[in-house]
Amino acid sequence: MAVTRVPLIAGNWKMNLDHLQSIAFVQKLAWSLRDAKHDYAATEVAVFPPYTDLRSVQTLVSADKLELRYGAQDLSQHDSGAYTGEISGAFLKALDCRYVIIGHSERRQYHSESDDVVASKTVAALRHGLVPVVCVGETADDLEKHGPSAVPVAQLAVVLGQIAADADIVVAYEPVWAIGSGQAATPEQAQQVCAALRESIAAALGDEIAQRTRILYGGSVKAANIAGFMKHRDVDGALVGGASLDVDEFSAIIRFRQHVGTV
Ligand code: PEP
Repeated sequence: MAVTRVPLIAGNWKMNLDHLQSIAFVQKLAWSLRDAKHDYAATEVAVFPPYTDLRSVQTLVSADKLELRYGAQDLSQHDSGAYTGEISGAFLKALDCRYVIIGHSERRQYHSESDDVVASKTVAALRHGLVPVVCVGETADDLEKHGPSAVPVAQLAVVLGQIAADADIVVAYEPVWAIGSGQAATPEQAQQVCAALRESIAAALGDEIAQRTRILYGGSVKAANIAGFMKHRDVDGALVGGASLDVDEFSAIIRFRQHVGTV
């Protein structure tokens, strides 16, 4: 039986927008989507602000009964204790976060996060009832040496080896060379790797979870190119960095169905 996966458009703000700016941004985004009569059940929307904004975003979402989801950009693999500067999944859950990004290439690169750490953080997120958005992707050098799928599939394999077969996760395929470069992968490249990732989930955890798991593409996504990605079978949404900081642009990305003529 074919499974329908609800697309997810997720905005990773990185280290941008303080808590006051986050309130103004989320308000404007919600108004823009309300004016456009956005159907959140048809396309889910999530934002990933810095930790210090999360309480403000939670308060606004709850007070205005917004259908927007939110999450953190990282979490600790530990639950509590002497880990200065770390944030527990328990704290994120207490702020009603739905998601948490794990293993973003900037964490892997600047904080030396290994595949094992990424797997431990994924397990921690699931332990606290958060949905991990597990990022995988190859560098330009990996691409040249190993082709497009080998590295992302190997990175994901370490995570798949440590989670239960019914785990609710989102995978984000983000080629490192495409992040912030203005040079997105082609939709065909994204489809090829997303399909390989789905096959690897099926091999590790079974076909049912593979069909259920959403796999996003990330890397220089804009309103002008989102439709091309969303036409492909194995691409279930986008993780958007720079373009998620502009309300009009992010809103247009979320309304990708209008670009592909399916609304
Ligand atoms: C990201 O950092 O996750 C990302 C995809 O960035 P950008 O959209 O700016 O390439």
